[in-house]
Amino acid sequence: MFVKTGITVSPGVAFGEAVILDNRGFHVPRRIVPKAFQEENLERFRQALDQTAQEIQQSREVISQQLGESYGAIFEAHLEMLQDVQLKNKIEKLINQQYAAESAVSEVLQQYQEAFANLGNAYLAQRAHDIEDIEKRILRQLMGDRSWRSRLETLLESTENPIILAHNLTPSETAYLDQTKVAGLATESGGSGSHTAIVASALGIPGIVGIGPFLSHVNYGDPVILDGNAGRIILNPDEKNQEYYRGEVERDQSRKAHLQEAVDLPAQTKDGVRIQLLTNIEFPHEAEQGPAIHSDGVGLYRTEFLYLGADEIPSEEDHFQSYCKVLDAMGDKPVVIRTLDLGADKLSTLADAPCPEDEKNPFLGLRSIRLSLRNLSHFHTQLKAILRASVRGQVRIMFPLISTLTEWRHAKAALNNVKEDLDEQGIAYSPDVRVGMMVEVPSAVLMIDQFCREVDFFSIGTNDLIQYCLAVDRGNKDVAYLYNNSDPAVLRLMKQVVEAGRKAEVPVSVCGQMCSNPVYTMALVGLGFRSLSVPPSALSQIKTVLRELEVDHCREVADKILQMDNAKQVNTFLRKELSQAMSSFEFW
Ligand code: PEP
Ligand code: MG
Repeated sequence: MFVKTGITVSPGVAFGEAVILDNRGFHVPRRIVPKAFQEENLERFRQALDQTAQEIQQSREVISQQLGESYGAIFEAHLEMLQDVQLKNKIEKLINQQYAAESAVSEVLQQYQEAFANLGNAYLAQRAHDIEDIEKRILRQLMGDRSWRSRLETLLESTENPIILAHNLTPSETAYLDQTKVAGLATESGGSGSHTAIVASALGIPGIVGIGPFLSHVNYGDPVILDGNAGRIILNPDEKNQEYYRGEVERDQSRKAHLQEAVDLPAQTKDGVRIQLLTNIEFPHEAEQGPAIHSDGVGLYRTEFLYLGADEIPSEEDHFQSYCKVLDAMGDKPVVIRTLDLGADKLSTLADAPCPEDEKNPFLGLRSIRLSLRNLSHFHTQLKAILRASVRGQVRIMFPLISTLTEWRHAKAALNNVKEDLDEQGIAYSPDVRVGMMVEVPSAVLMIDQFCREVDFFSIGTNDLIQYCLAVDRGNKDVAYLYNNSDPAVLRLMKQVVEAGRKAEVPVSVCGQMCSNPVYTMALVGLGFRSLSVPPSALSQIKTVLRELEVDHCREVADKILQMDNAKQVNTFLRKELSQAMSSFEFW
């Protein structure tokens, strides 16, 4: 048995079998085949080796013709490695011990890569990449040139209650996981604010990130318990833990059933103050599901997920169709469409997508609205699609990561240009589309009174506000101790925004992950927020909590935490207050 803890990103308990994904999106498990298939596997391996040699030879010729002999010679070295007798013998030895050809190739070539990478010599370490390239080429011959998605699907289908274990997952890889098939996920790296964590919580499957190294202790198919409530992963659990967690699963189910009772009730406090409870979505289909339909609208539609995982750059029609789906599902409720927030950890995989390159500090680089303003044609395409869709419902447009008034004005100018184009072309759009911005950079908070004169609404993105306020990477487990919703500095920034909005009569909402954690509901109401946007999976829980709160008490709580001097004190206090207010309900 091996137990490790990490950072909880999505609650719940899962029992299942390990599916290990390495950074190429799949992992070749050690698979032993019956003796009768040994010869066949040897034959497959030898054929794959010949085909790989031919492929490398072809690459050599093409590159020599295009770039010259010296570049083609790079492949000469690959061919030499591939034809190394010792390498071939090692792989065949494993196949003779009944390893599947894929497993044998992967195991031996991974050993070679590790040996080169550990030589402590930068030049030789580069050779590890050459060996990785050879490994991929042979595996492609053996497994067919299928995408990692279809290989993942095959793995998922052959596993009972798969629990995905990985060093890291990109947001698009996470988004691709089908929650009906995957029981949970855990990663070695990542922090609670990473987009991977956000997508995991949106999927509603138990998830833990930032566990640190553990993958070397697990094999494909090993039994795993994932305790998303306590942030604990247990590999090869003993009987005592299995029994305890069987009870936990039951308790979890009864907690969920209790929360479900609130789903159709209004989101209002015990003393009758109505709170607008909106939802955050990444994909149109989420808006078509029950929880989102029961919310007061979509407070944040992260449209960049249209790009992530797509094979081609989405066209205006792709954008338009997605927006129409959401608007049709939400009827006359508001839908806040946030323009693309690509870049940083949400790099698109598309070859010619508008992506920054070689950034040393991507969260401070060409991301989000900066990227849109740099790639105006993509931005115009998106704005045009949003405006066209606006006749189908209550569209609001929101610009992300606004740092300065000039940036805001440029974004507005782009929108006005698109409106003029539509007017000229006689294409209809709603004249009432309100335009707002996310408040997620401290400079925007400091200038909030000026923004109030020009902006129709604000939504506070605490995920980024925390990272920019405390200078802490939201996805880095090593500084995750600083990345804290409870930090009084963050709470004070939020207070400034809600106060400015109240005075200027500009609506202010909050759409960061903080809203989905019941620990903060009391603080948010007490600070003065009357609109919150949470993932669909959190709607019933936050509604349940809101219905037990009294606004005067929340104000007292907020006044107290604003005077505290550290995050731990705030967090402990809020947990205690929540437990008292919800004495009949067990959250953790
Ligand atoms: C935020 O920063 O709080 C937010 C909602 O935006 P995202 O998480 O997509 O950066
Ligand atoms: Mg953000």
